[in-house]
Amino acid sequence: MRWLMSSDVCKHCTHAGCLDVCPTGAIFRTEFGTVVVQEDICNGCGYCVPACPYGVIDRREEDGRAFKCTLCYDRIGEGMKPACAQACPTESIQFGELDELRVRAAGRRDQLVEAGVSSAQLYGENPDDGVGGAGSIFLLLDAPEVYGFPPDPVVPTCNLVSMWKHAAAAAGVLAGITVGAFASARRS
Ligand code: SF4
Ligand code: SF4
Repeated sequence: MRWLMSSDVCKHCTHAGCLDVCPTGAIFRTEFGTVVVQEDICNGCGYCVPACPYGVIDRREEDGRAFKCTLCYDRIGEGMKPACAQACPTESIQFGELDELRVRAAGRRDQLVEAGVSSAQLYGENPDDGVGGAGSIFLLLDAPEVYGFPPDPVVPTCNLVSMWKHAAAAAGVLAGITVGAFASARRS
């Protein structure tokens, strides 16, 4: 038996499904690259909940509005660290520029592998993954599934553009058939 610790926060995805589907503009990308919900604009439709490949966004029971980690948008706007990074006594949670954090995380993973933890791995650091890379990177000691993370997360809206193109093409064909049918009917 062993304990595996991890936080299950919003990953602040580069391609964020929650943001793609929100019909009210309640979810927006901040100037820091993070993804934030504005509670006063959210109408509680809930579209964002299944659009998150990590299952981290949810609706409040009381009023149905969506909520999730904002990476302390108010604090970082004032030049402060998010509260979790500020309070963590072991610096297990760190905050900074993403490129710098990627390098630091890779170094810690390599240290662990050299120390014999061959299953140590990073999660969310790959910009070519199904969400375009995450803004929250995790150093795991085992496979993502063991922590309850999807091993290969994909933003559900990745095919949205091609779906709309196919729908537009299908609508065009349908309109052509309808016009053809009317023209045939007038001749007969
Ligand atoms: S529940 Fe709120 S945040 Fe989520 S999609 Fe609907 S309006 Fe947007
Ligand atoms: S982890 Fe989920 S809630 Fe957070 S930005 Fe990505 S899709 Fe949105």
